[in-house]
Amino acid sequence: MKYNIITIFPELINAFANVGFIKHSLKKNIISINSIDLRKYTDNKHNRVDDKSYGGGPGMVLQYEPIAKSIKEIKDPGTVIYLSPQGETLTQSKLKTLSLKNNLTILCGRYEGVDQRILDKFVDEELSLGDYVISGGETASMVLVEGISRLIPGVVEDIESIKRDSFQNGILDYPHFTKPEEIDDMKIPDVLISGNHEKIELWRKKQALGMTWLKRPDLLKNVKLSKEDDKLLKEYILEYKKHEQK
Ligand code: SAM
Repeated sequence: MKYNIITIFPELINAFANVGFIKHSLKKNIISINSIDLRKYTDNKHNRVDDKSYGGGPGMVLQYEPIAKSIKEIKDPGTVIYLSPQGETLTQSKLKTLSLKNNLTILCGRYEGVDQRILDKFVDEELSLGDYVISGGETASMVLVEGISRLIPGVVEDIESIKRDSFQNGILDYPHFTKPEEIDDMKIPDVLISGNHEKIELWRKKQALGMTWLKRPDLLKNVKLSKEDDKLLKEYILEYKKHEQK
């Protein structure tokens, strides 16, 4: 996957590319990140890339020309994404779809955003992190690149862990525990040290269904549970209610 990221803060993207699994995937050439400094595409001597909004009012707008030039210079831009609070909300299934592409160009907005004509001419998809506003698209681009990259084969060593992640199968992940077995009078569930893998799998499935029921019941409306899963969830709910009554 080749990411092109257009930004006025390439140093943010470069710092991000120098850490953790993103750094390793770059080294292994599974992904590449081309951070494009928008200011290099201006003719004016102060490298300004923004101007006032036509019609008046507060805030500046990123101008058409430098963005258009920067996109035109990319050899193979692939799908052009503008990160914006007005876009389609990012989901795990969207990340899956994007992870199958070879080239993505990500445009990071700043100030009031970008000249609307950029969206009209160059942008294939507008994507949002959620219904809130942050100051720039850079942090959003990092979310996008991390979310997509970990789905690309070879990036994350244990692919099994990804298959069990929340949202991968429409439900949430099960709870995890690590050493020590007991701390502050809290013990881990016995089944996890029973050595019985079948029982552990069943427990995890039940917990994953139960966590989804507790935290995100809306998700359960969109998954078709097998008879076995339905039984596990019913058991979880019964046990949970019994425990609540105590
Ligand atoms: N005036 C714009 C609006 O209300 O729709 C908000 C501009 S915001 C201050 C500046 C930039 O941050 C946007 O152009 C976009 O690139 C990025 N941004 C802000 N919120 C975002 C979100 N929820 N998802 C993705 N990008 C976001």
